[in-house]
Amino acid sequence: MERAKDEEEIAPLVLRDGVEEPIYFRVTDLKQWFYCPRIVYFQFVMPDLRPKTYAMEEGALKHAELRRRGRRWRGLPDGEYRWDVALRSEDLHASGLVDLVIDTGEELVPVDFKDSMKASAHFKMQLAAYGIMLEEAAGRTVERGFVYLLPRRRAEEVKLTARTKAKVRGAFREMLRSVLGETMPPPPKSQAQCVACEYRRFCDDRF
Ligand code: SF4
Repeated sequence: MERAKDEEEIAPLVLRDGVEEPIYFRVTDLKQWFYCPRIVYFQFVMPDLRPKTYAMEEGALKHAELRRRGRRWRGLPDGEYRWDVALRSEDLHASGLVDLVIDTGEELVPVDFKDSMKASAHFKMQLAAYGIMLEEAAGRTVERGFVYLLPRRRAEEVKLTARTKAKVRGAFREMLRSVLGETMPPPPKSQAQCVACEYRRFCDDRF
């Protein structure tokens, strides 16, 4: 059956094992996209070749710490704590599971827990993606979130600015364009990522 044009724009499809499926990126794909956009491209266009080294596994510390959910998390706002909130965005064509959403009564605040000593740029982008999804789900503006650094037991506030959200939207749009058009994106500027990359046999232009 022929799909209406506006429906196609809402839910573009990829062919997997002979079956058409709607494209939904994961929020964690953002990290890979900024590391090397080709990795996301290969994962979607050649899903059977996905090397294990790119599985996004969370650290043991995170799993152990988040079991203690009743505790008080220093530096986070008070409010109603909702753990493991599944989110999906038609706008971003993405889905994700945010560790925690705090409803303070005045605002919704996403929190991402990390086994890391610092809140790097890609963590902030992931948080902004959760913020956009929350806005879409709740119909409320989300202006800040927190990256909680587990080894330091420290909550870092991140302003979710219009500029950051625009960058996240732009990245997901680029991913979609690349996958739907089967257009291999350019490689990263540095070749450092390529040295141990299991997709390197597909990147002749890098070597
Ligand atoms: S070999 Fe380099 S350019 Fe190719 S996918 Fe791997 S990291 Fe990206």
